[in-house]
Amino acid sequence: MSPTHDKHSSQGLLQAQVDLWHHTLGFVKSVALRCATELRIPDIIQHHGGSMTPSELASKIGLHPSRLPHLRRLMRVLTVPGIFLVPEVASPDNEVSYGLTPTACLLASCDEVRSNISPFLSLLLDSTFTAPFFGMHSWFLDEHSTSMFKKAHGLNFWEMAEQDDTYNQLINDVMVSDSNFLMDIILREYAGVFLCINSLIDFAGGHGGSARAIAKAFPQMKCTVLDHPHVVEGAPTSDHVSFISGDMFKYIPPADALFLKWVFHDWGDEDCVKILKNCKEAIPPREAGGKVIIVDMVVGSGPNMRV
Ligand code: SAH
Repeated sequence: MSPTHDKHSSQGLLQAQVDLWHHTLGFVKSVALRCATELRIPDIIQHHGGSMTPSELASKIGLHPSRLPHLRRLMRVLTVPGIFLVPEVASPDNEVSYGLTPTACLLASCDEVRSNISPFLSLLLDSTFTAPFFGMHSWFLDEHSTSMFKKAHGLNFWEMAEQDDTYNQLINDVMVSDSNFLMDIILREYAGVFLCINSLIDFAGGHGGSARAIAKAFPQMKCTVLDHPHVVEGAPTSDHVSFISGDMFKYIPPADALFLKWVFHDWGDEDCVKILKNCKEAIPPREAGGKVIIVDMVVGSGPNMRV
């Protein structure tokens, strides 16, 4: 074996080890992001004019000086993937200062966005949500278990929300914060989709964040939210949106259009087909203006996703 080949082979092995470390420790990025959000770092930097040195940041958070080196490390974990900014040229005294990228702005109360979406991060990085993933291997080996969440908690995600008021409130708040953010963009980019609709049901619409935004943009439209009774009960009242409780697998009241945001990805193919059949029964035919409007993520739309 030539020395060059040998060297490449050693480099290849070391690179493979580094790759493995990156994948193994990938969770550190998530928990660092959660920590920064819990310490309200994006908000603090935003309120300080958009840029702060580590010592300014540490003092504003109220950290003991001994934590300053650790704060620098935390911020390094989050500047490398581009969540916070560090200027390319250091200041004369060699002090870095941290700024907000558009990503970090989503976690702060910035003027550019109507709502910060940090509640979503809190829900997804809460141990109730993450712990079931640590049982993935035993779930694979248990053919009778329907979901990892149910295997870990004895209840599925929505049953947990029904039984635990705090969790229910957290989910509903998260969805409203997401709707406040996303509906601005949807109504700006795709307003045409909502034209000529007299009645719309925000289907599995939670506390009606989306319905409220649609009703505000199209005041002549009759907007209704349908969701579980325990969700609808806690929804804030509105003059422009009405709420009804029901089960989307059983009956959907008639309307010109049904709006489903972040619903289908929660369900398997068979359940999605059931929901879509119910949707079809609730709306007029396409020629008469019936519409199902879906906002969701699509698997297979990006590169390298054909698996
Ligand atoms: N569309 C909302 C909420 C999405 S979260 C938004 O984007 O903000 C999914 C919603 O589906 C939750 O509010 C949950 O309570 C509701 N849901 C789940 N199962 C349901 C069912 N069987 N019938 C009605 N709503 C259901």
